[in-house]
Amino acid sequence: MERTPLVAGNWKMHKTRGEALAFCRELAPLLSELDEVDLAICPPATALDILAAELGDRGVGVWAQTISEHPHGAFTGEVSATMALDAGASGALLGHSERRHVFGESDGVVNAKLLAALAAGLEPVLCVGETEEQRDAGDTGALLRTQVEAGLAGLDAARADQVTVAYEPVWAIGTGRTATPEQAQEAHALIRTLLAERFGPETALGVRILYGGSVKADNARSLFEGPDVDGALVGGASLEAASLAAIARAALAG
Ligand code: PEP
Repeated sequence: MERTPLVAGNWKMHKTRGEALAFCRELAPLLSELDEVDLAICPPATALDILAAELGDRGVGVWAQTISEHPHGAFTGEVSATMALDAGASGALLGHSERRHVFGESDGVVNAKLLAALAAGLEPVLCVGETEEQRDAGDTGALLRTQVEAGLAGLDAARADQVTVAYEPVWAIGTGRTATPEQAQEAHALIRTLLAERFGPETALGVRILYGGSVKADNARSLFEGPDVDGALVGGASLEAASLAAIARAALAG
C-alpha cells in the first residue's frame, strides 16, 4: 500500500507568536513544490491559531505538542483536546519522550490522552521509543511492544487508521546521534507487526510510522529509504522553514 510521506516539525518550547508568523510566511512559498508530501507543525499552544490561520488551508497539519487527558476541570496549566481543536489544532502528539521522561507521563496517561484526542476529533500521533540503557540491554523490542500495546489500548480497529506512530529513540532526540537506517527500519517493521497483530495486516499497512531523532536534511534521505519509514518527526531542524522543506524534499525522493 502506498502511504503518502509525512514530515512533522516539533518546535517544543520555541517561538513567540511573532516568530511563528514569520516562519509561516517563509514556509508558504515553498509549499507548491511539496504537494506530494504531507506536512505538519507542532507549535506551542500559544501559536496554534496562527499556524491554523496561515497554513491550515494550505493542507499543513497543526498538531498540539500534548493535550490533557481530562475534558475540563481543576487542572491548572493544562489544555484539553477540545480547547486545542478550538485553537486550530488538527492533531496532537501523545507521549513525546520529553513528556514521558521530563513530566513523568505513564503509558496509561498517554493512552488516556490518545483516546481523548480521538474523541475530540484530533488526529493522534503516538510517540514511542527506547532509552539507550534499554537498547543496550536488548530490551528495545519489549519496550516498543509495551508502549504500542498500552498506548493504543481501547482503540477499535475502525479508528486505527486515524493514528500515526512516531518511533523516536530517546538517545537520538536532540543529541545529534541518529539511528542508522537499519536500526530505524528494524524498529518500524516491528511496530508495523505489532499493529498488524492488533488491528490486522490491512489496517497496519495504512498506518504511517515516522522516525524522529536528530533528523536533518543531510541524513533524512537514507532514513526514508526504509520501506516502513513513512516520514519524520523533526525537532531542532524544523525551526527553520528552509530546513524543514529540505527534509520534506528528501521524503519525496526516499
Ligand atoms: C523531537 O523533538 O521529536 C525530535 C526528534 O527532536 P530532534 O529532531 O531535535 O532530535
